[in-house]
Amino acid sequence: MGLFTKDIKTMDDLFVHQLKDIYYAEKRIVSSLPKMIEKATSPELKKGFEQHLEESKGHVKRVEQVFEMHGVKADAVTCPAIDGILKEADEVAGDVADKSVLDAALVAAAQAVEHYEITRYGTLIAWAKELGRDDCASVLQQNLKEEKATDQKLTELAERRVNRAAA
Ligand code: FE
Ligand code: FE
Repeated sequence: MGLFTKDIKTMDDLFVHQLKDIYYAEKRIVSSLPKMIEKATSPELKKGFEQHLEESKGHVKRVEQVFEMHGVKADAVTCPAIDGILKEADEVAGDVADKSVLDAALVAAAQAVEHYEITRYGTLIAWAKELGRDDCASVLQQNLKEEKATDQKLTELAERRVNRAAA
């Protein structure tokens, strides 16, 4: 996000800007997950990505809801951070031939995405509360909860794969 753009003067402007940033990120994630689903070889990982694709579509809707509650038009600003994370995921996964190694690369990439979302929602929730918008915070909290659960599931999948490899 272009943090120091001239049109950001108040906490409210900053909140709206960050909302536009996560809106862009969520939409990019929704468009990138089908490719990750296609690449994943473990059925569990595939299923996990499919489930998170559906959740992510819901995240886009909730962010739209927060725009509406806040009285601003839903709009996306390019977020170079998520673009970079997704680009790297694509490059790394494209290079791996071994199935188990490919899945490990996909899990790692997906966790980078989740951690990005977790940090953004954490900030958005804090700022919403600071602005006296607990209502917006609680909608964003629902997204954060699902991102954290997804991250946890990915950790479990990664650990299971390592245990299998060691057995
Ligand atoms: Fe999300
Ligand atoms: Fe997510």
